[in-house]
Amino acid sequence: VWGRVKNVCKQNGLLILSVLAVVIGCLLGFFLRGKQLSEQEVKYFQFPGELLMRMLKMLILPLVVSSLMSGLAALDAKCSSRLGIMTISYYLWTTFVAVVVGIVMVYMIHPGGAAQKEASEEGKKPMTSSADALLDLIRNMFPANLVQATFQQYRTARVAELIPKPTVAQLLDEITTRRVYIYGIQDDNGTDVQNFSLDLTPPPDVIMKTSPGTSEGMNVLGIVIFSATMGIMLGRMGPNGSALVNFCQSVNEAVLKIVAIVIWYFPFGIVFLVAGKILEMDDPSAMGKKLGFYAITVVMGLVLHGLFILPAMYFFITKKSPIVYIRGILQALLISLATSSSSATLPITFKCLLENNHIDRRIIRFVLPVGATINMDGTALYEAVAAIFIAQVNNYELDFGQIITISITATAASIGAAGIPQAGLVTMVIVLTSVGLPTDDITLIIAVDWALDRFRTMVNVMGDALATGIMAHICRKDFVKEGEQVPLICETK
Ligand code: ASP
Repeated sequence: VWGRVKNVCKQNGLLILSVLAVVIGCLLGFFLRGKQLSEQEVKYFQFPGELLMRMLKMLILPLVVSSLMSGLAALDAKCSSRLGIMTISYYLWTTFVAVVVGIVMVYMIHPGGAAQKEASEEGKKPMTSSADALLDLIRNMFPANLVQATFQQYRTARVAELIPKPTVAQLLDEITTRRVYIYGIQDDNGTDVQNFSLDLTPPPDVIMKTSPGTSEGMNVLGIVIFSATMGIMLGRMGPNGSALVNFCQSVNEAVLKIVAIVIWYFPFGIVFLVAGKILEMDDPSAMGKKLGFYAITVVMGLVLHGLFILPAMYFFITKKSPIVYIRGILQALLISLATSSSSATLPITFKCLLENNHIDRRIIRFVLPVGATINMDGTALYEAVAAIFIAQVNNYELDFGQIITISITATAASIGAAGIPQAGLVTMVIVLTSVGLPTDDITLIIAVDWALDRFRTMVNVMGDALATGIMAHICRKDFVKEGEQVPLICETK
């Protein structure tokens, strides 16, 4: 028995350490909460966790660009278009299923209160327009400046989205910490406020529109679209494109080698990341009953979708064991739990699929980065639940057409959300405004969002990884070179 235990530890050392790190992080976090650390002390304590995030983020850009360019260049036109169409269709399909699961759950559990009555008048006054948000999504697909896209997305935002009546101090804070540029200030009636000066007292109810500049992380969507197009063109150029393709292949290999080294820092970083978050969180006992039911609804939906529906789809399509497959990506799932970011997890998911699940590299290179950018089943499910929860809290009765609108906009909002912590909270605005719900009410769910974010990110990562396995199975014949054997996807040993 001892020999077996030793063997398991040797093979899964890193995984065991990571699980331990999550547990130790939780214990340490709750222990230190009792010690009443100052804000500054908490910041220092979080430093090793911050380093983990920085290392992961550092690897995203070279990984996404090199894998898409070299991956698509290596496919011939027929394979790439088939793989592209299959992948995108599958992603849209699973996202839609996730939304339906969310809607069914929220109607079954009804976390937002008792019987519904007439729509409240207040609930019909959207603060921001979903057209803004949808246009931002399309703008982000075509970054005007590629260098800027590596650190900024385009987002039209109004401070009132998250801070209903900002004080002058809060406005200043937005300007300095989030690098927002004000280009218009309006009063409550939507009239432009002239001669606004920051020493106004009392502060007016301002709506602040921002021009490009709200830095919500990298514009991965724009980078994916550009790199994929470049990759396809390089493939068509034949020998003329080979210099750049070889370069990208080398970068890709090198990034994976770096991942193999920094991965040993993860257990240590996770302890501080998890404990640091627990130190920051609000008092859980202050959470209302409705909010508790809301959180339970989201988690139950995520469990149903992530642990049953997605693995079942994998099983029916590939006829292989999803349990074996999921075991291969456990490390990535843990990292997603610790970081709340599917983009940051991307390098690890890549490595797991390649080394543990033995998926064809050519398929991973395309399916995974695209999935990490547009396929967010967990986020879509959560957006649908949250929107209907807010409707329930406001006694707003949604008709069938509005429920369809929520399902479509929740799908769009999940596609538009970046793979960074709590990005889904921002794109919620699209869903809420589409049916005239008050965007201010996003504040209702903020208290539990950091925790739900972790679980939905796990489902997002799980969805991408399973999709890669399914695509490898469906397209296996396209990718066989002469003399090669058909199965490109093998089970974990
Ligand atoms: N944190 C999520 C992710 O990275 C996005 C979100 O739902 O907020 O996948």
